[in-house]
Amino acid sequence: TTIELDEKESSEDKKLHTIVQRIIIFVTSEAAPYSKTGGLADVCGSLPIALAVRGHRVMVVSPRYLNGVSDKKYAASFDTGVRIKVPCFGDQPEVGFFHEYRAGVDWVFVDHPSYHRPGNPYGDENGAFGDNQFRFTILCHAACEAPLVLPLGGYTYGQNCFFLVNDWHAGLVPLLLAAKYRPHGVYKDARSILVIHNLAHQGVEPAATYHKLGLPPDWYGAVEWVFPTWARTHALDKGETVNILKGAIVTVDRIVTVSQGYAWEITTGEGGCGLQDLLSNRKSVLNGITNGIDIDEWDPTSDKHIPFHYSIDNLSGKAKCKAALQKELCFAIRSECPVIGFIGRLDYQKGTDLIMMAIPELLQHDIQFVMLGSGDRQTENWMRSTESNYKEKFRGWVGFNIPVSHRITAGCDMLLMPSRFEPCGLNQLYAMRYATVPVVHKTGGLRDTVENFDPFAENGNGRGTGWAFSPLTKESMLTALRLAITTFRKHKASWEGLMKRGMSRDSTWDNAALKYEQVFEWALMDPP
Ligand code: ADP
Repeated sequence: TTIELDEKESSEDKKLHTIVQRIIIFVTSEAAPYSKTGGLADVCGSLPIALAVRGHRVMVVSPRYLNGVSDKKYAASFDTGVRIKVPCFGDQPEVGFFHEYRAGVDWVFVDHPSYHRPGNPYGDENGAFGDNQFRFTILCHAACEAPLVLPLGGYTYGQNCFFLVNDWHAGLVPLLLAAKYRPHGVYKDARSILVIHNLAHQGVEPAATYHKLGLPPDWYGAVEWVFPTWARTHALDKGETVNILKGAIVTVDRIVTVSQGYAWEITTGEGGCGLQDLLSNRKSVLNGITNGIDIDEWDPTSDKHIPFHYSIDNLSGKAKCKAALQKELCFAIRSECPVIGFIGRLDYQKGTDLIMMAIPELLQHDIQFVMLGSGDRQTENWMRSTESNYKEKFRGWVGFNIPVSHRITAGCDMLLMPSRFEPCGLNQLYAMRYATVPVVHKTGGLRDTVENFDPFAENGNGRGTGWAFSPLTKESMLTALRLAITTFRKHKASWEGLMKRGMSRDSTWDNAALKYEQVFEWALMDPP
């Protein structure tokens, strides 16, 4: 079993931790507000600040994406003038470093022409970029050099640091530490921690690309990954690939996943995405730490994206936000009609196929349903056609739009998350803080964070913050939604209890930051 971190650390202990200042380098393909396609960005935008507040010296290294649309997000960063050549891909590509000091954190943006193109960090309307292995290989090489070469605030971070490497894009970092730096006496006392936000993406490419990574030839075994026969597409295919995430798993000092439920799931055949045996072997260094949320960005008392504000003591603003949302979506403005929302990537992971199957039955109820998301083309088209078939009851907002996501979170009564798997999930945390009751599939972080409603518990006062259904079938999802709809309509006191318990849930980063500190301590106990 994974080690559970102590939830109830005394405030004395908290103070003790901050006495030891750690030097921490986040390496990530996304960091909000600079770049974002999902929860990874939210975590890498908030956790560094929470750790800096606790007294650590923190740098975040991510690419400087210029896509012609959101370039102004990098406006406050300046060119450090430092340029380095990184040895990979049979060449010495040159990268630069931009820097912004904000909220106590050094935000470092690696600059290279391959990050300057339309689209999101990974692709555009034609699909994933063909050179992503190159783009994230140079990110990792640059991130390893950053603490050594960047004089931030007058002096470099130095070698005695912790690398927090996030998902496969940063996965080459522990390999480089082990194979390139430590044999030369550099980074001998550094430690690396892999944070797995999503195991489904592993950075798999043909084995022939190995020599491009900038690793010594004898380290091939660390990233070697042979697909089983059934998973090969061609009769002559030997299944040989390089798998960056696998390489990180076998070389990092510790592994963290973004919830305890997911930490367990990834060691099983169902959730391990083929890596379950390797992860089971590393169970003794594997922990789950549930993500927090940015409580300034997501605060119903002051959110700049929503038209009215509210708090646990006065929920009248929530009703106004609902009416405003209904108006915006051209729905009838009816307080008694439950509004159900979905926000997220349109992806098999998010269970949108289940929503598509259930909508005809669900819309037989007197409800309004709004969906915000982009991704799978077929689902996007389905959203458009469903909207024209059910004008009174369904709105499909195709796109990635942060202000709209806030207005939906505030204006809905319920948020549906039928994720097939969910490492942590942030939308249910945002929803609860906004008195929007989550209805979720009981998996991963959703299982850990949404407590199923029990109206009879606590002497009839009720317990729980939403509905967590299982198994993942249309029927069980509809049953949970029907229970939620009935409770909303007929049991006002129960509904208010659900909203208020959700709002009072502590989802701050403070607790999580404390647990990451504990992981740093554990990492130091074992030599790399
Ligand atoms: P994942 O990282 O798997 O996409 P999470 O629930 O952890 O899922 O985080 C998703 C983040 O991305 C949340 O902040 C969510 O609000 C945001 N998001 C997802 N889709 C959209 C969208 N279409 N518009 C705006 N924000 C979105």
